[in-house]
This record gives sequence, C-alpha cells and structure tokens, in this order.
Amino acid sequence: MQLSIDLTGHEVLVTGSDHAARQAVRRYEAAGAVVYRLSTPAGAPHDGPLPERPFLVAAVDDGQPGWEALLERCRITGIPVAAEPAAGPVGHVTLVGGGPGTTELLTVAAVKALRDADVVFFDRLAPCQDLPDLTSAELVDVGKKPGHHKVGQADIEKLMVAAALEGNNVVRLKGGDPYVFGRGGEEVAACVAAGVKVRVISGVTSAISVPAAAGIPVTHREVSHMFTVVSGHAPLTEKEHTHLAGLGGTIVVLMGIGTLHQLAAGLRKAGMRPDMPMAVVERGYRPGQRTTIADLGTITSAAAGCSNPAVLVIGEVVRVAEANRGHAEAAADLDRLAASLLGS
Ligand code: SAH
Repeated sequence: MQLSIDLTGHEVLVTGSDHAARQAVRRYEAAGAVVYRLSTPAGAPHDGPLPERPFLVAAVDDGQPGWEALLERCRITGIPVAAEPAAGPVGHVTLVGGGPGTTELLTVAAVKALRDADVVFFDRLAPCQDLPDLTSAELVDVGKKPGHHKVGQADIEKLMVAAALEGNNVVRLKGGDPYVFGRGGEEVAACVAAGVKVRVISGVTSAISVPAAAGIPVTHREVSHMFTVVSGHAPLTEKEHTHLAGLGGTIVVLMGIGTLHQLAAGLRKAGMRPDMPMAVVERGYRPGQRTTIADLGTITSAAAGCSNPAVLVIGEVVRVAEANRGHAEAAADLDRLAASLLGS
C-alpha cells in the first residue's frame, strides 16, 4: 500500500546514525516536516532538543542495537513509526526514460526510481511539471529554458557522477527513451568510467507515441511493414535520401523541423512520389498538440508555422489515421444526432 500524508509543519523524529539517516532527513525536510534527530538511542550532544510527542517517528534501519525500547514506547503511546531504509555508502545513477511528456506514460519502474531518488537531473522534454508530486528529491533542471543557458552534456555528466559519488541516488530523467537520440549511451559510459553503478530504465519513445497521439500507427498490415527512425538534427546526405526513399516503409523523423525543407526536397529528388502523405505532429500529449497533414510536395508550405518539439511521419500510414479519424468523427456525429433526437 502506498500512503501519502501531508507532513507540512508536523514534527518528525528521524532516528538512526547520521550517515544512515541523511537521505531520510532530506526527504522529510523536503516534504515540509519539522525534522528532529536522534542519532543514537541515548541521544548525542548535536542532536538538539526532542519534541514532546512527534507526529511520526521515522526509524532508519542503521543496523545498530538499542533502538527496540524507543520503538516499543512509540507502539504503546500510539506514535506512528515509519521504517526507513538506511542510505547506502555509495550512490548510483539511474537513467530514466520519461516518455513523451505526460506523467501517464511513465513506466512503473520510472515512478519507483523517482520516488527513491535523492537528486533528479531533468530535461525540458521529460514530464517535469508533475515532478514535485512524484518525488521529494532535489530537482535540477539541466534543459534549455528561455533566458537560461542549457547545461552542456559534459557538465551534466560531471554533475551526475559527483552527486552519486557523494552517496546520492541520482536519477537522470530524459524525454522519451534514453537510448533514442538521448545521449544515454554517453551518460552510461561516463558513470562506468567514474566507477559509479548505473542502470537504464527504458521509456516510451516519442518516435512511436507521438504519431499515435495523432492516430497514426507506424506500421499497419498491408500498408507498411517497417518503420525507420531518423534524426533530422542535421540534413541527410543524398545517399541517405535514396536509401530511405527506396525502403518503401514509414519514415519517422525526430528533431526534423529545422531540416524539413531539405528532407522533402531530398526525398522528392530520390524519386519519392509528391503525393506521399506526410504529417507533422507538434507537442504530443501536451497542451497545444497539433497535427498538420499534407504530402511530400506541399508539406514545406503547409508546415511553415510548425515548431519543435515535433515528430514528422512520412508514409501511407498517415492515410490510415485520416481514415480512422473519419470513422471516429462519423461515430461522434451519430452520437450528437442521437443526443439531439432524444433531447427533442
Ligand atoms: N529520447 C527522445 C528523443 C529525444 S530528441 C525520445 O525517445 O522520444 C528530441 C526530439 O524528440 C524532439 O525534437 C521531437 O522530435 C521529439 N519529441 C519528444 N517529445 C515530443 C513531444 N511530446 N511531441 C513531439 N515531439 C517530441
């Protein structure tokens, strides 16, 4: 069972040795509690005064003997006790795929990792609005913000490693999946090089989920039996355009707004039909989500007002979405008709 209680302003006594209790102390402070410390069963001079009757005792399992009497007294007097794990001597890093930007599409493993984190370094494309509800960890924005400079990749890696070496459980929260144009491999390598334990939790990539938000299946029986995910960060070469055009499957492009014109022209030149359907899906799962549908020959002007973040989809599957939307709209029309008939 997971229970959440508002601890704001409540007195919480955290018991256990300083080293073992440091993460619990931070978590309770972050939750707004007034934290008192008891570092040995007999108390230590630096512990300071104790509350008369704490709202909660957070008992950190520090492996030391002598705590039983205190816990027994809590039981008898009805003071609730929360068992807390001891902080490990060394921290570790978890790279977490945050999905396309909505908390709903976080994995269960991602939610758990966030809950157990001491520090979270997050990107702009990760579901960052809801982070304060998901974790009491310190939150560090390392993405681009208007008016602020983006923290460079090398600095992100240094910050992550340093925090882990201090003994923190570090979460590096990224948009989508860490291994899809997410520099996850580099961050793992940086941890390994520093001797820091690291693991990766896959996320729902925008390459599949953002088209889906617009009703576009990246594969569809008898329409497309493959999809290729391409970065549009830099323009593709002529050879790459030729290969892509020759594949005959769905093409999904991330970071493609800036090079949309070159892509459309390159694929045309490589022999792709000008009436090949194409979609631009902006801000998937976020306020202002918008889909622009055109074809290879008209997309450059149709998408002139489109901006990042956006996923481009090129292929016949775009028509499947249009057909399905037609059905959905027809169904909605029927519903409205039925409602008005019943109402009248
Ligand atoms: N690792 C990420 C991709 C990082 S590259 C993933 O697996 O999804 C960043 C690009 O992802 C953006 O330029 C955009 O093309 C795409 N993207 C991520 N989230 C998006 C969203 N909510 N809506 C539209 N595009 C998105």
